[in-house]
Amino acid sequence: VAPPPLSPAKTGAAGGWVTLDAADPRLQAVNENQEFTPDLLDYMKNKWDIVSRGFDYNVVAVFGSQSTGKSTLLNRLFGTNFDVMDEVSRQQTTKGIWVSKAKDADLLVLDVEGTDGRERGEDQDFERKSALFSIAIAEVLLVNMWENQVGLYNGANMGLLKTVFEVNLQLFQQKGSPKTCLFFVIRDFTGVTPIENLSGSLMKDLERIWAGLIKPPGKEGSLISDFFEFNFAGLPHKVYALQAFNAEAQKLKSRFYDKQDPAYTFKPTFHKHIPADGFPQFAEAIWEKIVTNRDLDLPTQQQLLAQYRCDEIMRVAYEAFAVEIKPYRNQLESGKVLETLGKETQQHFMTALEAFDQDGSRYNKEVYQKKRGEFKDKMSQALHVYYVQQLRNLHKRSLQIFNERLSEKMRGDDSDFALKLRESRQEAESYYTRVSEASKLLEADWDGDEYFYQFQAEIDDIATQKRTEAMNRVVKNLDRYISQNLIEPVEVLLNDGPTDVWKKIFATFTQTLEKAETQLAKQLAGFDSSADEIATSVREMKYQAWDLMQKTIKDEFADVKVLERLRHRFETRFRYDESGVPRVWSAGDDIDGPFTRARDDADQLSILYAKMDVPQSDLDRSILDDDRFDPSSFVVLSPVRLQSIRDKFKREADLLFVEAKRSIVVNQVG
Ligand code: GDP
Ligand code: MG
Repeated sequence: VAPPPLSPAKTGAAGGWVTLDAADPRLQAVNENQEFTPDLLDYMKNKWDIVSRGFDYNVVAVFGSQSTGKSTLLNRLFGTNFDVMDEVSRQQTTKGIWVSKAKDADLLVLDVEGTDGRERGEDQDFERKSALFSIAIAEVLLVNMWENQVGLYNGANMGLLKTVFEVNLQLFQQKGSPKTCLFFVIRDFTGVTPIENLSGSLMKDLERIWAGLIKPPGKEGSLISDFFEFNFAGLPHKVYALQAFNAEAQKLKSRFYDKQDPAYTFKPTFHKHIPADGFPQFAEAIWEKIVTNRDLDLPTQQQLLAQYRCDEIMRVAYEAFAVEIKPYRNQLESGKVLETLGKETQQHFMTALEAFDQDGSRYNKEVYQKKRGEFKDKMSQALHVYYVQQLRNLHKRSLQIFNERLSEKMRGDDSDFALKLRESRQEAESYYTRVSEASKLLEADWDGDEYFYQFQAEIDDIATQKRTEAMNRVVKNLDRYISQNLIEPVEVLLNDGPTDVWKKIFATFTQTLEKAETQLAKQLAGFDSSADEIATSVREMKYQAWDLMQKTIKDEFADVKVLERLRHRFETRFRYDESGVPRVWSAGDDIDGPFTRARDDADQLSILYAKMDVPQSDLDRSILDDDRFDPSSFVVLSPVRLQSIRDKFKREADLLFVEAKRSIVVNQVG
């Protein structure tokens, strides 16, 4: 089947590039100016759909003198549409390397065009470069030659083959490098000399060329078969033996298409192991090296390609990863705690890593492993930022849980504070620990201990503060209890003024204190307080009670109040009789007697009040052996104040006496 007729490519104006129809499946890989196309990746992706084939693709190139029917052969075998020299005008084709995809096969076909330097006396530079390029990237090199060129050891082809061998030695020095298949196609094959004889004769020539090569150090004893495998086929004259040509071409085609064919050409050992997605980059790098005449060795090129491609694959995979994980960042920044953060980010991490592995694993193992490590680190670093943010949110949330639980449990009840605290704390901490563990990336060994310690330290602070507050409340409640049990009873006792008033006041004080102390000890037990701590609180409470006591007494002993008590005592004695009935004085009543008794009685009270008189035995019961606590040093009424109050009282009593006398006069007159 002939290739579809397409018009020949025309030389365009655009910088040495040939203009093609948009529908044309070919690509000019290298142009007349020896520039490499920027479009190869695009073609492999969009026109040929071969970029995602991994290693499942092949590359074939052609090699041979000008106008030996190379393009015709390629078009026939692979259904391509490379330019064929016009049969009528014998027009020269342009220089360059063309590439196309074989019909119905994942096979890249390279056609080399060029003026025949030997015939036209030009330099062989381009031939050498294109041979070098072909052999670096193709698995199979079709060596196209006329039957009558076979055996011409000094012929043009042999010169070129010498070039091929030299180039090959330079490229594939490494042990285990792929072999290249040299596939000789003998054109205008008559059959007069069987193909076996022709190939034997060719092999002899090749061995001679090989023997004559200067080999690199260490490769002196290497054999041609260490680097190449050879195939041979004869193809009859295309015009004079058209039928035979067609039949043989069909057979030849099967050797490139049919994997079941025993003579199938593409052995895995020929593959250059460039993943399809890296092929454009690789081909370009090889060409640049060739053009700039720099040393070219494939291992280095493969290494460079691996680095370039793995970086690229990583970049693409990371971009996708970044898009996936972005929403978490927004949520975390808004302060949320994401309880399934670890699990979910782990999934994105694995997906991205798989994407990287899929393409990256085909490249140089060392480079791939190194880049894989870098990629994992990069993702892990990005996720670590999330992890830290999560821990910050978790810190806040867990403190909140702690505070909520504690206040729920307390509800104005300070008993069993330590237990409530412990339970709230445990709940908050186990929440923290569970979520922080679940926020980690599985393979990253992130250490969140420091954050946890910070969290614990803050709970400690809050706990201490809450405890102090609660303890203060307890003490305050006791203060209230003490003042209720102290102030009023003291006032009543002072009003009554029994002779043992101080003993009684002090007994009240001591009793209240004892009760308060028992209560305090009981309540503080719920705080897990130490004996020391309890002792300190008790002492503090006692001092406060003592202060309250002193203050109460001071208040009760304001001048007015004392005077009032004296007056009251006097009046009860003087103006009322023994049975509490108000006295009405009559003439001849003894006023002086009751007056003096009542006045002395009241005066006695003032003396009683002057000093806090507590028996030593009672003092001992009060437990406080401290300078701050010494009733004997407490001055209730100074002598001066006492005297002035007594004077005042006496004057008032005298007035009442006079009044009583007058009342008799009034009664008699009435
Ligand atoms: P290329 O320069 O090596 O690519 O050769 P072309 O494919 O352009 O063909 C050069 C000329 O040889 C054209 O005129 C073809 O028609 C002619 N040609 C192609 N195949 C054969 C063949 O098998 N035998 C002969 N004698 N001529 C052929
Ligand atoms: Mg051609």
